[in-house]
Amino acid sequence: MSFAALNLSPDLLQAIEEKGYTTPSPIQVEAIPAVLQGRDIMAAAQTGTGKTAAFTLPLLQLLNTGVHVNANQARALILTPTRELAAQIEASIVSYGKHLPLRSTVVFGGVKINPQMMRLRKGVDILVATPGRLLDLHNQKAIRFSQLEILVLDEADRMLDMGFIHDIRKIMATLPKKRQNLLFSATFSDEIRKLAKTIVHNPIEISVSPRNTTAETVKQRIYPVDKKKKAYLLTHLIKQYQWQQVLVFTRTKRGANQLVRHLETEGIQAAAIHGNKSQGARTKALADFKTGHIRILVATDIAARGLDIDQLPQVVNFDLPNVPEDYIHRIGRTGRAGASGQAVSLVSADEFVQLSDIERLIKTVLTREIVDDFEPVHTLPESRLDRRPIKPKKPRVGHRDGQRSGASKQGNNPRGRNNRTRSNQENK
Ligand code: AMP
Repeated sequence: MSFAALNLSPDLLQAIEEKGYTTPSPIQVEAIPAVLQGRDIMAAAQTGTGKTAAFTLPLLQLLNTGVHVNANQARALILTPTRELAAQIEASIVSYGKHLPLRSTVVFGGVKINPQMMRLRKGVDILVATPGRLLDLHNQKAIRFSQLEILVLDEADRMLDMGFIHDIRKIMATLPKKRQNLLFSATFSDEIRKLAKTIVHNPIEISVSPRNTTAETVKQRIYPVDKKKKAYLLTHLIKQYQWQQVLVFTRTKRGANQLVRHLETEGIQAAAIHGNKSQGARTKALADFKTGHIRILVATDIAARGLDIDQLPQVVNFDLPNVPEDYIHRIGRTGRAGASGQAVSLVSADEFVQLSDIERLIKTVLTREIVDDFEPVHTLPESRLDRRPIKPKKPRVGHRDGQRSGASKQGNNPRGRNNRTRSNQENK
């Protein structure tokens, strides 16, 4: 199958060729024709499947009709949960749309609103936005939606996790009823289906399996180690294996900052990326990581979601995530598009419950390796695979990742087995 067979216009085919893509990915094969036909779609696809191009390419083609966009209007709106994802989608639009006369912009919180208002003045064909800032702009009459033709909701599950449901409902109420709707989500829980019912009409449902959820392209291994020794073990591994570009996950913002300080005292260039960092600091950290100026990027789950870093060789779970699905999202950052990658987890005895939940989800007992001089004093119990099916999760109540003026709320939920939601993970 070629991109030309998907009926994309020559201008888009040229941009695709310049990107070096030769074959459409499965989500692109299914979504592009459906979107071009004007259908609503509901697609289950994770980052790494090529989902951004799956909606961006047909969107650009549908909008390239010569219609004039009026002041403070947008013809297509793409809603995403995080600033990084918003910026990445805008970058894709610019790159795929480079031969088309369409205008686009991106708006998100944590940066000044005035330049965004200026950019919206002439109107844009495509607006990429995070929900909080979009509502602020709408309230200030910087954006109106009477010309809106297409809505894309990207990473809908993450939006719910992050507590954006009310903002999304408010935004929906401002949009024209007649429009095309594209909804993307990594998972389709009952909660997402309920939301989807109020948004999409008679959708084509698409589901593609993630390219790299588990062992096929990602080598996974755990290092049992005492909590106090984790930072030293990480330094040892980085030096011993000469890892050059490592994405490290911590469960909390404080843990991320502490780890960066530790690595720097060991002479290893590192930076943290999380909800308390300014937008400028986050963008710079990501850029420095991509160019190799820093070797280690330490991130929390919410901040890392959707980061598009090509073919990352090495992912480290410094802490195991509380929500087992986040393990899959985390290791999905490596071994992209068939390249091999390695995901290692430093696991202390108190994380045995999290480890068991992850092994149950991925239906695999992870290989263990104990490093000389780092034998744990507190022994990690042996894993026994729990083969019982996993029950659906309870609905979550979330917080916002500082999308509006950095206003991230501090959660004070007691932590326990039944209260392990993603939404309170960054709140320490
Ligand atoms: P996404 O799932 O949208 O985050 O895309 C993951 C990565 O795959 C991005 O780096 C894209 O540039 C890349 N990509 C998207 N479509 C294709 C394709 N058809 N062939 C090769 N790479 C692609």
